[in-house]
Amino acid sequence: MKILAVNCGSSSLKFQMYEMPEEKVLISGVFERIGIDNSFYSYKLNGEKIKKQAYLKDHKEAVKILLDELISNKIVESLSEIKGIGHRVVQGADKFDKSVLITDDVIKTIDELSALAPLHNPAAIVGINAFMKAVKDAKHVAVFDTAFHQTMAKEAYIYALPYYLYKDYGIRKYGAHGTSHKYITKVMHDYYKENKKLIICHLGSGGSITAVKDGRVVDTSMGFTPNAGIVMGTRCGDIDASIIPYIMDKLNMNTNDIDKLINKESGLKGITGGITDSRDIETGIEANDEMCDLAQKIFVRSVVNYIAKYYVLLSGADAICFTAGIGENSSLTREQIMDNLKVLGVSLDKEANKARGTFTKISSNSSKIDCFLVPTDEEVMIALDTYNLVK
Ligand code: AMP
Repeated sequence: MKILAVNCGSSSLKFQMYEMPEEKVLISGVFERIGIDNSFYSYKLNGEKIKKQAYLKDHKEAVKILLDELISNKIVESLSEIKGIGHRVVQGADKFDKSVLITDDVIKTIDELSALAPLHNPAAIVGINAFMKAVKDAKHVAVFDTAFHQTMAKEAYIYALPYYLYKDYGIRKYGAHGTSHKYITKVMHDYYKENKKLIICHLGSGGSITAVKDGRVVDTSMGFTPNAGIVMGTRCGDIDASIIPYIMDKLNMNTNDIDKLINKESGLKGITGGITDSRDIETGIEANDEMCDLAQKIFVRSVVNYIAKYYVLLSGADAICFTAGIGENSSLTREQIMDNLKVLGVSLDKEANKARGTFTKISSNSSKIDCFLVPTDEEVMIALDTYNLVK
């Protein structure tokens, strides 16, 4: 069965077409700079990468070109072969605890939740509408980034703020990266053949740590927005909330200014004065750059703090998993994090930890907690949820 996984951003559209249930990728690609000048798209087919310039006036145009490419490349003979299209939706809040078939009511609810994800939910709706019009025979499924985290207990997601802010304004922890955390949970279940107590470290340009027990989320580090939790490339993560009114007052900032400061100018970038990518941080450390060294130490400490917290919350952990850009590629970061966990009986297999991008057990046989490098795959998770709802 042919299933398309789609991820629409405000000016981009990523796609991956699968043959399911084999999970075989038939074609994948991305449309970029939609609605901006110099727009283009690229796709990978049979190991070859093809890039084309195109005037992408809007998402509708990108969808049209994508569907034409599927036909001209003989991925499908007609669009009716596409049985399901899975759409990534960032914010489902407490309205969706799992993926759902898209109806008018679902679109309405996603739209109402736009206030909680102003950059993401409107883009998803544009994509959903464009695909629903163009591929009428397919079933359309919404896969929410927040859904996996809906199993948290109230004491995990309520902030110690006046309670009416939760009741009247929906201020609570929702978490993010749920599709990735769910995928890693599935991979680990396939590995152990049973549910284990997991601490999943999704360390990319954005990062989140999740505690999982019985296949369900017990707690997660991101909060009302993806700004909370660990230090990230440009986001500050957890800080004393009173810093915000203080600097707004001192620097005469409005809400947009402060939002930009904590989301785009902080994290590794803020500490180093401009370096956001952990590869560049590592290069800086090799060159004895003091601020890169400090940024890395603060980053590692923030991750270790969450792992320690979740170890206690779970009454011990069976496995710690590292995933996403940094988690899958940075041996140095994994080593530093694991070195800080020696007190929990974690011990590193230095040789195994040289791995990059492939599923690898990186803890030694004597380690009290298994540690793994687990490549994430949010697209296949979207395709799986879609397939399961469509079949
Ligand atoms: P993601 O958001 O999951 O795509 O992760 C992107 C981030 O992964 C980049 O900003 C880098 O910080 C990090 N990254 C990617 N490759 C490497 C690498 N080889 N070593 C260290 N960090 C890496």
